[in-house]
Amino acid sequence: MAELRFDNQVVVITGAGAGLGREYARLFASRGAKVVVNDLGGSFRGEGSSSKTADAVVKEIKDAGGIAVANYDSVEYGEKIIDTAIKNFGRVDVLINNAGILRDITVKNMKDADWDLIMTVHLTGAYKTTRAAWPHFRRQRYGRVINTSSSSGLFGNFGQGNYAAAKLALIGLTETLAKEGAKYNIHANALAPGAASRLTETVWPPDMMKLMTPTWVVPLVAVLVHSSNKETGSIFEAAAGHFSKIRWERSKGLLLRPDDSLNPDAVLKGWNTIIDFKDAEHPNRVADSMGLLRKALQLPKNAP
Ligand code: NAD
Repeated sequence: MAELRFDNQVVVITGAGAGLGREYARLFASRGAKVVVNDLGGSFRGEGSSSKTADAVVKEIKDAGGIAVANYDSVEYGEKIIDTAIKNFGRVDVLINNAGILRDITVKNMKDADWDLIMTVHLTGAYKTTRAAWPHFRRQRYGRVINTSSSSGLFGNFGQGNYAAAKLALIGLTETLAKEGAKYNIHANALAPGAASRLTETVWPPDMMKLMTPTWVVPLVAVLVHSSNKETGSIFEAAAGHFSKIRWERSKGLLLRPDDSLNPDAVLKGWNTIIDFKDAEHPNRVADSMGLLRKALQLPKNAP
């Protein structure tokens, strides 16, 4: 089988100075891409900055014979990161929104600053880079976006209300980008990774850290952003060599007549039907969410 290549493509990776981002940068550069290595170089809580983090990865890539350029802006100034790609390489083909920090604390003890900074880095950052790349994607009728979500976003996690909210918001953004980009061959997918990094070293035991090399996440992302891939608007998990897809599931549900008999007692009576996932559906558009509701409202099938 031929090697999956990215020759002459420009790949922008945010937070590429360490962890997963560094591994993406090295892989894409080794397979022919010109890489923008963005990293603010601050602490895992989002304090401070340093150009050394991105520079070190650019040097690694160049020493190995690859092409890369550094960018040190925070993702909240996404347009500057995309500018670096355009000024140095004249285009952008792939955007991997990966930069991330943590401010773990229960909602009870959370300060607004903990909430705001997490939203800014994870959610606003991905929005800013994507919005800046979008006109280029549209003009060239080609673009690939990966937004980095998390199992904390999908399922919630104790002490991560801010992070979980931002990470689930990225799913909504991704699903919308997939719809807005479809006509222009712009694909967007979300990833919930698992990898040993400074974000997980305080949580996972040393044995697990050894197994969860960030390298094992990278191949899935490479496949997703390759020009041959048709997947868009999807959520994937990748960790330690395990790869899977996640989707919404909706119970067939309970349909009650919308009249005076529709009261809390009727809902309670039908409770087991509401939560029964036998004959479940897997909606992926707002129109799909009508389902039985359409029947309840007696709308014709082709109504908006
Ligand atoms: P990491 O700390 O090793 O790497 C993140 C990088 O992002 C750092 O180099 C950091 O300097 C950079 N960064 C932080 N804020 C930035 C900003 N404002 N602008 C530009 N760069 C910034 O962490 P990682 O584990 O490789 O995480 C990568 C992504 O994966 C993050 O979005 C994280 O939330 C997500 N994630 C990781 C795991 C995991 O198991 N490691 C699980 C779920 C989600």
